[in-house]
Amino acid sequence: MPVANPSAGGLTEEHVAIRESVRDFANAEVVPIASELDNQAAEIPMPIIKKMAELGYFGLIFSEDYGGSGLDTLSMAIATEELSKAWLSVGSVMTRMIITASLVEANGTDEQKKRFLPGLCTGEILPAAAFTEPDAGSDSAGIKCRAVKQGDKYLVTGEKTWCTWANKAHILCTTVVTDPQAARKHDRLSILLVPKTPGDKFHPPQLAGSPIPTIGYKGMNSYSLQFDGYEVPAENLLGGATGKGFYQLMSTYEIARIQTAARAVGVAQAALEAALKYAGERTQFGKTIGEFQVIRHKLAQMATQVEAGRQLTYHACRMKDTGKRCDLEAGMAKAFCAEMVEHVTSEAMQVFGGYGYSREFPAQRYWRDARVFRIFEGTSEIQYEVIAKRLLER
Ligand SMILES: Cc1cc2nc3c(=O)[nH]c(=O)nc-3n(C[C@H](O)[C@H](O)[C@H](O)COP(=O)(O)OP(=O)(O)OC[C@H]3O[C@@H](n4cnc5c(N)ncnc54)[C@H](O)[C@@H]3O)c2cc1C
Repeated sequence: MPVANPSAGGLTEEHVAIRESVRDFANAEVVPIASELDNQAAEIPMPIIKKMAELGYFGLIFSEDYGGSGLDTLSMAIATEELSKAWLSVGSVMTRMIITASLVEANGTDEQKKRFLPGLCTGEILPAAAFTEPDAGSDSAGIKCRAVKQGDKYLVTGEKTWCTWANKAHILCTTVVTDPQAARKHDRLSILLVPKTPGDKFHPPQLAGSPIPTIGYKGMNSYSLQFDGYEVPAENLLGGATGKGFYQLMSTYEIARIQTAARAVGVAQAALEAALKYAGERTQFGKTIGEFQVIRHKLAQMATQVEAGRQLTYHACRMKDTGKRCDLEAGMAKAFCAEMVEHVTSEAMQVFGGYGYSREFPAQRYWRDARVFRIFEGTSEIQYEVIAKRLLER
């Protein structure tokens, strides 16, 4: 049993080694290009994705039986933090594998596990998540996109939105209505693993897509998608039975929220480190600005908030690995870190003064990227509903 080292934030030697190795990769390959690509609104170059795949990042937590590394949730969070510290978009690539492979591992048939998991772990199959629709975001059971069975195929018709990385994906993990007559709306849904050819043109006229312009998160485009009778093999129905999709989706919320909290910690840590460095270099009134008590206290508060978010995330990871329900801990970590990163990145911009507002310094990138955390993977309002529900149940 590896021993946790209190001086390393309670991490084991193995965790520290993972942190150092991912940090080395991120510093060598991602940090040098992140700001320039963000300024050009260019997506993550595919050679970076290939290297991440070769380093085994996509299969970290999945079973060795299917080509994963079988590591714990904390290892995944540590790797996520380091990648997101370099560039949120890079830390977010893994989110798609975590959602899709978790869904397949927990709910897929044996045949589906064999068919999809090895490719998801090695990066041969790149996935995207198509759950949100123009009229159904927080209300994920309120979707309208439907799949009608015809022989050995489903024909999918309807709209999805905010499908991040849909262009690069080989499969779209898609919620669809298969049982419109079900008495409860939650029982109408299924999940289809929708195959597609990677590329920006999609498959018109049965599948069209267009990118949504955003203020940040520039390394991955999010797409509006229109399905019009798009054919999907019936064998790609997750778990092989209809009406289970909502419950299958719920089963991934904990891990996805923990990974999102870790992404926020990474962005906040990057902003903190940039602010610390700048405070030691910038002089005004004959002193470095780090000598002014108001700036020193700002930095101290930022560091305290980042560490609080990190430890809340680690706690959720450890709860997840006990195998017990941890929606409370995952929701707290996600909600806290989403607000923490918005505040910390805004304070970092303040430390930079006018340069914080300039595209020539990365403080504005951290701040623009940070704003999405209160919105995706369940808004803050939804997290607080989950937390309150659990507290009041007790
Ligand atoms: C950059 C980005 C990337 C994304 N990537 C993906 C992706 O890859 N795949 C995917 O499927 N989706 C993705 N999303 C979509 C994201 O998950 C949704 O935006 C989110 O779930 C909120 O849904 P909505 O936008 O429809 O807002 P709504 O649900 O309409 O919410 C609007 C406001 O009302 C509040 N609200 C709603 N319901 C309640 C309630 N019951 N109680 C209290 N307040 C409530 C919300 O908190 C919010 O403040 C992405 C979004 C963004 C911005």
